[in-house]
Amino acid sequence: MKVLTLFFSAILCATLLNAQTPSEIDEVRTKEMNAFNRSAKVPSLYPTAQWFSRLLMRPIDILKYDLDINLPMSNSFTGRNRITFRVQRDSINRIALNANQMTIQSVLWEPQNTPLTFSRTDSLYITFPQWLYAEDTVTIAIAYQVSSPSYGYYFYTSAQTGGGAGALAYTMSEPYDARYWMPCFDEPYDKATMEMKITVPQGIVAPSNGVLVSLTNNPNNTRTYHWKTDYPITTYLMCFAASNYQQFNTYYVRPNGDTVVTENYVWASDLPTAQNSFSLVAPMIGMCENRFQILYPFEKYGQAAVRPFAYGGMEHQTMSILHRNSLSSQNLIVHELAHHWWGNMVTCETFADLWLNEGFATYTEALWREHQQGFSGLYNYMQSRLRPSQWSNPVYNPPPPYFIDEVYGKGAWVLHQLRYLCGDSLFFQIVKTYGEQYKYGVANTAQLKAVAESLYGASLDDFFQQWVYGTGAPRFNVTWSRAQEGSQWRISVRVQQTQAGQTFKVPLELFFQLPSAGTRIERVNIQSRDTLVVFYFNERPNTLEVDKNGWVLRFPVTLSDNPRLSTGRYEFRLSQNYPNPFNPTTTINYEIGRTAPVELSLYDALGRKVATLVNQVKSPGVYSVQVNAAQYGLASGVYFYRLKAGEFSETKKLVLTK
Ligand SMILES: [Zn+2]
Repeated sequence: MKVLTLFFSAILCATLLNAQTPSEIDEVRTKEMNAFNRSAKVPSLYPTAQWFSRLLMRPIDILKYDLDINLPMSNSFTGRNRITFRVQRDSINRIALNANQMTIQSVLWEPQNTPLTFSRTDSLYITFPQWLYAEDTVTIAIAYQVSSPSYGYYFYTSAQTGGGAGALAYTMSEPYDARYWMPCFDEPYDKATMEMKITVPQGIVAPSNGVLVSLTNNPNNTRTYHWKTDYPITTYLMCFAASNYQQFNTYYVRPNGDTVVTENYVWASDLPTAQNSFSLVAPMIGMCENRFQILYPFEKYGQAAVRPFAYGGMEHQTMSILHRNSLSSQNLIVHELAHHWWGNMVTCETFADLWLNEGFATYTEALWREHQQGFSGLYNYMQSRLRPSQWSNPVYNPPPPYFIDEVYGKGAWVLHQLRYLCGDSLFFQIVKTYGEQYKYGVANTAQLKAVAESLYGASLDDFFQQWVYGTGAPRFNVTWSRAQEGSQWRISVRVQQTQAGQTFKVPLELFFQLPSAGTRIERVNIQSRDTLVVFYFNERPNTLEVDKNGWVLRFPVTLSDNPRLSTGRYEFRLSQNYPNPFNPTTTINYEIGRTAPVELSLYDALGRKVATLVNQVKSPGVYSVQVNAAQYGLASGVYFYRLKAGEFSETKKLVLTK
């Protein structure tokens, strides 16, 4: 959905993080929090996963919503919704629809316009005078009135809208608020076609889903917009907005000449801003088509500005609404656009699978950065969305009201890691196949997993269990050693997972910086809590960096040098003193591999011994000696220290500054 403005927005807006100023980000977060507060008021409205499976067993399938809305630009409006449905079960004579806080004036059974009896709770129960049977197609017309509902329909006067804008009316329906502005079967898995006639005062512009069939001027100083879509649409993606908008279009032209139009509706004072930032919509469509290998799947695109708005944006099908204050946010714009593949073309079956909408849309923000800036753009965006310490819920089946950052940020990280696991070519093949397989329908997490497994060629049980169904993130403690063995260097790396909870199985890239050969990358398949791997190099690597390219959802890695690591035995080794330069004290560490007479001495630049620091037989172990220059009366300058232990000898330089 939406990016809740708040939360959502945040989410959506999360999208905003890269491009926004801190105050904008705060706004997003504030909005998200408001969304949480709101959800606290209506928890009973939101089913949890236990209910989703029951909801899927519905007796009717909605085929079409045909709305006729008379919008006088006030808190109230009247409407009629002609709903055509197919009966899916024999011998029913009563159906239930969602219709909250609205007045139902009549329910007529077409084509005879037979009045039907109905009763109300938050549901609308309609009784038929005869049995209906499977495959029957039925059309009913429900006349209703909406008046200041708590959710779903929002009206603001010109003063409330502010900033020189006129009065504003709009709908905002995800997840379960369409039922506040139209009677419907309000579940994401039931898609239908839609027509909407919306009559507004002259001077008001009213965008909605689909294409504009006609715009009719009426004798009573009103005009009627007639919108229609033949593409399947679910209730939470249906919308209208109405204000004294200015419209301008942008066009994406494919290489073959085909064109996708974007209809934009903003207030006059926002035109320069919107025309500037919305010029990116065309290249964004191109980027999405290119990456997903699926053409933009609807008859048009559209964007309408709203304010006040509790979210950052909402991807209503072919008519996203964007918070007026965020019209310049590339993250927001590309996020809502991306939903037209992920969320609108393929819709989450239930809100337990919301991450299939939001994770993909959020990851598309990263893809846009990658498109613009290359890998560094992708890397920086993903790092900006990495918040493992805040992600306590599973990505799958989020608690109501569903729009938590696990679904957005961690959802994007799930896809990022799937890409890492599979490689670019296979990952985008999975994305394309998943999109084509569930095009214009709904999908759930298991179905995405099945598509991915079929192409990956192996089980992804571990991957989905740890990243989607499970919680937490790995904390890697990495120690390593470099030990010379003949002409080679034995490099030992131990990777321990120190987090509580589950053990993660993940490929981990190790970057060794070599003096002459640049970077050597080793990919280690971490499968347990404690992994030891050994490599043989021709030269001694200077440094090790773990997961330098940031492909793994993890806490920061702790990394240290441990010379005893590779064998469990001690090795001969002389470390650089620290601090260096020093005055007057410094510390020298060294390691003795087997029992031997040990001498550690200090020499001046001319090679004259100026101090004996150690002179005795030592057993294997790590030792440390502190040098106090004052004790030996040393002047400023360069000195050397040499460790001799049996046949081992090594010399290092230190600098005394006074
Ligand atoms: Zn979204």
